[in-house]
Amino acid sequence: MTRWRNTWAAAGEPAPPMAPECEGSRTAESARLPDRGNRESDGRRHCRSTVSIAGLALLLALLGIASRSPNALASFWPANAVILGIFVLHPRLARPLGWVSVLVAFMMADFLIAQTPAASSFILNTINLAGIAAGYLAFRSIFGAHIDFDQPFSIPRLCLVALAAAAAQGLLGGAFAAATSQQPPLTGALDWFSEGFLSYITLLPVVLGAPAFWRGERRGHWWRLSLRRAARAWQPMALLGASLAASLLIGGGGAIAFPVLALSYCALRYRFFVTAVVVVLFTVWATQAAALGLLPMLASPMDVQGLVSLRLATASIALAPLIIASVMAAHARALAQWRFMADSDSLTATLNPRGFRREAQSLLRRLHADRQPVAALMMDLDFFKQINDTYGHSAGDSALVAASNLLRRGLRKGDVCGRLGGEEFGVLLAQPSIEQARVAAERIRASIEARAIPTPGAEPIQLTASIGVSFADPAPADLSSLLRSADQALYRAKRGGRNRVCAQRVEP
Ligand code: GH3
Ligand code: MG
Ligand code: MG
Repeated sequence: MTRWRNTWAAAGEPAPPMAPECEGSRTAESARLPDRGNRESDGRRHCRSTVSIAGLALLLALLGIASRSPNALASFWPANAVILGIFVLHPRLARPLGWVSVLVAFMMADFLIAQTPAASSFILNTINLAGIAAGYLAFRSIFGAHIDFDQPFSIPRLCLVALAAAAAQGLLGGAFAAATSQQPPLTGALDWFSEGFLSYITLLPVVLGAPAFWRGERRGHWWRLSLRRAARAWQPMALLGASLAASLLIGGGGAIAFPVLALSYCALRYRFFVTAVVVVLFTVWATQAAALGLLPMLASPMDVQGLVSLRLATASIALAPLIIASVMAAHARALAQWRFMADSDSLTATLNPRGFRREAQSLLRRLHADRQPVAALMMDLDFFKQINDTYGHSAGDSALVAASNLLRRGLRKGDVCGRLGGEEFGVLLAQPSIEQARVAAERIRASIEARAIPTPGAEPIQLTASIGVSFADPAPADLSSLLRSADQALYRAKRGGRNRVCAQRVEP
């Protein structure tokens, strides 16, 4: 497609692309079957989404056309891959109206910039749409409804999607070249294929990986990094900058491969989405540097064979960091699962003593550093032995789960909670006042007292809990003294008659 855009541009005409359909978040969208009241707002929302995708398609097409330098072959054409990614993420948009609006937007971009004749623009953009459609269908059959790049074989599978989309464009582009005698058919086919493959394989990971990245847990703010950690975080980028500079300075046929090590280093250090963005930046750099003659890859601006080779080499280089990044993501996921299992209590799904200690210690360290207050709660269910004796061990287990759920419901996000023994739970509350800590503990105690736990064939279990609270402002560095103090308060609550909260302050 890019090749054609350039050819047409050189001839005083513009070039065009188009759009397809797909799936991804399809499950969520197709599951929504609204009533009449919602249908109207749904229709309006759909209209707005369609206008948005048409607007985006127009912008991307304008960007693609504008990024091409006069008489140069290499250009950046992100429209097809981005639209494919959006259709995959939002299959509701991949309906006839969505396709037509993208086609119209692409043709409008052609007309605005180069006044391409409508018939040519229509054919070229239809070829682009065919590529996107092939990619959409391939994505559905290879990935199903799951878009994940945290599997070792995610990128090889994405390669198949890119191959399908690029092959469709290549075949039709070659046929178009033969029909118009603008290029030899094989040259035209390779031109379309290589451009498509490069843009699909590099841009799809960015578009499809973005939602998971933005949804994912933030790892802290970069401006809070110490100078040493910030320097370490930027090392891969510094190495990349140096290798790109070396490519330009040394030149030669192998120059394009100089950044492989730096890109692989990025994949080892950064998350998948960040690596994918870096790969796109490298791709833009490589194609533009070659088009401008800064990299000696093209014999002339119209060297199609050199351009095809450049694109395929760039795609091959891009695949290495993407594969490494997805293997690293798979590794991180497995590690997180393993850690979750090692730190969780299998009955109540709260943290076990090991997990509690680790999480609580890490929260306490942060609060201590920021000189914020902290409170620890120790909760022990009252007369639990009797509950086991009266209702049986398995009813006792259900009561434990119910109490643990009520406890967690009474906490805020960021508090740490774990099961420390048989029917004993520990909690660390972040930044409360002593009054807030006491109120939270009282609320938990009251919710457990109010809850009757049903038992099969017997009376519901009536539970109560005693809670000891220790409070420190500012938070101490040592977790043990805080827990010990909460334990003392718990002991007082038991001695005082149970089913109550006792609080005490830890003096610095
Ligand atoms: P107190 O009010 O003084 O705390 O009386 P208590 O009966 O609760 O005394 P204690 O805390 O010493 O007893 C804990 C009991 O909890 C002993 C054990 O039978 C029971 N228990 C410990 N772990 C489990 C468990 O995983 N499931 C069940 N069902 N019971 C457990
Ligand atoms: Mg007890
Ligand atoms: Mg106990």
